[in-house]
Amino acid sequence: MNVLLLGSGGREHALAWKIRNSSQLNNLYIAPGNAGTALHGTNVPFGVTDFHEMKRFVLNNDVDMVIVGPEDPLVQGVSDFFRKDEDICHVSVIGPSANGARLEGSKDFAKDFMKRHNIPTAAHKTITPANIEEGDRFLESLQPPYVLKADGLAAGKGVLITPDLKQAKLQIRDMLAGMFGEASRKVVIEEFLSGIECSVFVLTDGKSYKILPVAKDYKRVGEGDTGLNTGGMGAVSPVPFADEVFMEKVRLRVVEPTIQGLRREGIDYKGFVFLGLINVNGDPKVIEYNVRLGDPETEVVIPRIKSDLLELFIGVTTETLNEKKLEIDERHAATVMMVSGGYPQAYEKGKVISGLEEVSDSLVFHAGTAFKERNVVSAGGRVLSVTSLGATLKDALKTSYKNIAKIRFEQSYCRKDIGQDIELL
Ligand code: ATP
Repeated sequence: MNVLLLGSGGREHALAWKIRNSSQLNNLYIAPGNAGTALHGTNVPFGVTDFHEMKRFVLNNDVDMVIVGPEDPLVQGVSDFFRKDEDICHVSVIGPSANGARLEGSKDFAKDFMKRHNIPTAAHKTITPANIEEGDRFLESLQPPYVLKADGLAAGKGVLITPDLKQAKLQIRDMLAGMFGEASRKVVIEEFLSGIECSVFVLTDGKSYKILPVAKDYKRVGEGDTGLNTGGMGAVSPVPFADEVFMEKVRLRVVEPTIQGLRREGIDYKGFVFLGLINVNGDPKVIEYNVRLGDPETEVVIPRIKSDLLELFIGVTTETLNEKKLEIDERHAATVMMVSGGYPQAYEKGKVISGLEEVSDSLVFHAGTAFKERNVVSAGGRVLSVTSLGATLKDALKTSYKNIAKIRFEQSYCRKDIGQDIELL
């Protein structure tokens, strides 16, 4: 089968690496891809939301399946675009309809969905300029800190948390006035939940589902989880506190009602549901839904899947996922992100990366790289995700850090404490 994978990050490199090994694969194309995805398939130069170019490419290259990495094309309706066009409706898409993608594209929709289906989450109220005073009263009823979220997509930056009531009231007004553009014309106020977070990915064909290995990511740029938020500085899988008892609660209280809820509401959903969870005294609560895999969690989850991923995707598109087997590698996986100095603020690109060929026993997934004059160069804030598997988390981390020491580019930075909090648990 011929596959087109959309995206250009570490997540897509991990997917490309995995799919390359499928017995079902003929040709793999990645749009636009990066220097790492080019090792496993052919990069094609069009953007992930360029639907018309996508259609042309799919028809010219007999593509049978499109796998969507990031959220933007899903929220913009790429699945519906294929389904509704008679020239390309035979092409299957891994990713939900725009209707389903609202679980990520609108926090107000997601919160109401959870309420309708009795899925545990923080108490909330949605505010528009018309009910701003209600927002003030709701804030006054909560304990600090106060959580304010832009309703729409804001590239992971649309959440403000403040301990000060007065500031929260001012920030709501700023958000509604367009602090995050159209995304914050509606604001969701949430009760603050205290606990450890983890990420659970679920693959569904709309009827049945498979729960993939649980992961934890490290969002802050500084050691000890300090400093600015980033796209993710590392991740580990499994997560010790997400034991069988916890995961059974996740299955019964979150996964089942989510899949059934989508079905009952007639929402076409074939793809991944990402559950951002928080463990509050042993009970899972949903912080957020995403409608695609997370990055860098994918870089530790995919290497732990032993089964043929393309087979599972075929199960999704033919609604036979329940007949497919999901085999998991029991080993621990860790990934450490090498980033450009200065990230997540201003940073320089185009730094030549050397030492990649010296790496042994780790998988190096390219997050932001490109080719320039036959060199691999940095092309983003997050540059390389160095993943290792080991009998223990400590072993996996040791291997990743050993290999990071061999990879060089000017002003590279990584956190040295990925997974350490878990080792202490
Ligand atoms: P991203 O997609 O980058 O994870 P986002 O903009 O979709 O972020 P959320 O995931 O909803 O936003 O929130 C971002 C982070 O803020 C969470 O990972 C969590 O650490 C914190 N957070 C969000 N909601 C709450 C809450 N109710 N209580 C405590 N912390 C929260």
